[in-house]
Amino acid sequence: MKIREDFLPFSKPSIGDKEITGVVKCLKSNWITTGPVCKEFEDKFCKLTGASHAVSLSSATAGMHLVLLAMGVGAGDEIITPSMTFASTVNMISMLGARPVFVDIHRDTLNINADLLEEKIGPKTKAIIPVHFAGAPVDMDRIVEIADRHHILVIEDAAHAVGTYYKGIHAGGFEHIAIFSFHPIKNITSGEGGMITHSDEYLEKRLRLLRFHGIERDAWRRYGKGGTLEYDIHQPGFKYNLTDMQAAIGLAQISRLDEINHRRMEIAKLYIEGLKGVEGIELPGIPEYDHVHAWHLFIVKVLFMERSVFMEKLSQYNIGYGFHFPACHLLSYIQKQFGTHRGMLPETERVAECILSLPLFPDMKNDDVLYVCEAIKEILSQNL
Ligand SMILES: *Cc1c(COP(=O)(O)O)cnc(C)c1O
Repeated sequence: MKIREDFLPFSKPSIGDKEITGVVKCLKSNWITTGPVCKEFEDKFCKLTGASHAVSLSSATAGMHLVLLAMGVGAGDEIITPSMTFASTVNMISMLGARPVFVDIHRDTLNINADLLEEKIGPKTKAIIPVHFAGAPVDMDRIVEIADRHHILVIEDAAHAVGTYYKGIHAGGFEHIAIFSFHPIKNITSGEGGMITHSDEYLEKRLRLLRFHGIERDAWRRYGKGGTLEYDIHQPGFKYNLTDMQAAIGLAQISRLDEINHRRMEIAKLYIEGLKGVEGIELPGIPEYDHVHAWHLFIVKVLFMERSVFMEKLSQYNIGYGFHFPACHLLSYIQKQFGTHRGMLPETERVAECILSLPLFPDMKNDDVLYVCEAIKEILSQNL
């Protein structure tokens, strides 16, 4: 087959006139940091998820930091997480002096295996952080049932899950805590940014204080007409607020969410059709329970061939790729600090060797998808 001349990236944000107009309008409004546009973005997120509260932030990582802090997580506490997650989660857990306790996953969906959850819960367990991997929801009923029985908190890592529904409920709509990311590769972006959704009045107050220096009112309220300039701090906080310029991008994106995710789903379907039955590649599994998949990522497993060789070949065909993720329990500092090692999580370790994320973004053309499928078939047939 003929090799394409331009590089097909693994991901690309879908930025249109709405996003550009929104940012320009914000810039011309003379208020560019946290203010009315962030508030509107938060309201839209409540509406999308069904959560009663939403707090915008500079990133999902910042959100994880604040949620763990607000829950009082610290030295001696244990947090259960899959090892197949982004390192930001274990970074925040360990930065607070707590210990990540890893649980294995299902090979097909890469989602946490709820059967293995209960044995990880002990007297020090504070929370469990399941990831709706690639946009496929975890089995919330089972996880929430186990967590409730042991009085531990569920924090959904919903970084891949804008547009993910489990039995009709959007991620973040379960009266637990969920954290979303708007990094440029995620389903919707604000350049950088994150959102916490939850349903707790007290947590709301804590999160807003921790988000902004520990100061009761943010700058918008202080410098606005009739605002007071005085403040007091009872407990120190961070500087994790989102700007209105970023929220303007996020608002435009959320208004286009149906269109964006519909296109993602079409692309996933094309991949599934194009690669069905191809030997040497395993397609992503799909949960059996009722759900809507957000198709944040399309992750295949490369069989019978070194992934590094496969990646090199894809590059020769001018095709980009991603890797989500290296196993966290095998990161050097985690092994050193927590004594984790190879052999602890067989499924995670097996898939971490062979998973690869194929190009998937809304502006991708059908021909691009077909090209990737053809290239993969050619690469694999040369290997026979
Ligand atoms: C991207 C990602 C995060 C972190 O999001 P940021 O907004 O970049 O901090 C956390 N968890 C998962 C699973 C992610 O993919």
